[in-house]
Amino acid sequence: MKLADKTAFVTGGGRGIGRAVAVAFAREGARVFVVARTTAEVEGVAAEIREACGAQAASHASCDVAEPRSVERAFDGARAFFGRGADILVNNAGIAESAKLTETTDEFWRRHLAVNLSGTFYCMRAALPSMIERGWGRVVNVASIAGKTGAPYIAAYSASKHGVLGLTRSAALEVAAKGVTVNAVCPGYVDTLMTARALENIEAKTGRKREESLEAIKRMSPQNRLVTSEEVAAVALLLASDEGRGITGQAINVDGGTVLF
Ligand code: NDP
Repeated sequence: MKLADKTAFVTGGGRGIGRAVAVAFAREGARVFVVARTTAEVEGVAAEIREACGAQAASHASCDVAEPRSVERAFDGARAFFGRGADILVNNAGIAESAKLTETTDEFWRRHLAVNLSGTFYCMRAALPSMIERGWGRVVNVASIAGKTGAPYIAAYSASKHGVLGLTRSAALEVAAKGVTVNAVCPGYVDTLMTARALENIEAKTGRKREESLEAIKRMSPQNRLVTSEEVAAVALLLASDEGRGITGQAINVDGGTVLF
């Protein structure tokens, strides 16, 4: 059990990558607290984990990571469930919509920055003090290869994920001597609802068939495929474990070789 006796707070844990992370961590012995806005989804994931790993293995709360008060309430809930702070924080909650830069509204821009970047910051600010106090902690931020490169129509998303990498690197150096590591995982296209919605959106806007767009995004990877949530979770698990203690301030691509830096 790589995470025996550990506690983990997972944002965006109701589906996709966040669900896979919560399940993988619980299987390795962690007690997990999953949050997202859709209560039914986090409730479902927590119930699934309790069934597989025991009654004390998981709990949930509804939380909007873009709202600092909502984040504080969720951390209070997690502390009550765990009986202490979270040893591991996975900042996975995120949104991804596309728009031409010239058609990107204030609301669209602010929403991407608020959820993807500020949400990550609010959760780190809430989680780090108890990690530092205990001299052990792990933060894994789910960024994206869009945090390293650009692409047309995703300026807001890409800027928010570039921001997550800056936040990750600075925080890592700030807490490096305290037993706490801070890293990012940068997936390429993953087989989740987020990608399905992107394909739907392309179809709605351009009339291009979903299957055609799917083939096109697969070809962006030298492996000619989408990544799975479980593959991303496996890297998050390494970073969250004791074995990952020497890795900090890194941004690790899980993208089949699409981006080589
Ligand atoms: P999904 O859309 O399947 O899941 C996103 C999760 O985040 C959901 O649980 C969602 O729940 C939650 N979420 C969204 N907004 C908020 C919010 N304001 N507060 C709390 N939770 C929120 O996406 P993925 O699993 O694919 O994506 C997970 C992460 O991986 C994201 O950060 C994404 O940017 C990143 N990523 C994804 C890639 C992909 O191809 N899918 C590629 C690279 C990175 P709810 O809506 O109920 O709040």
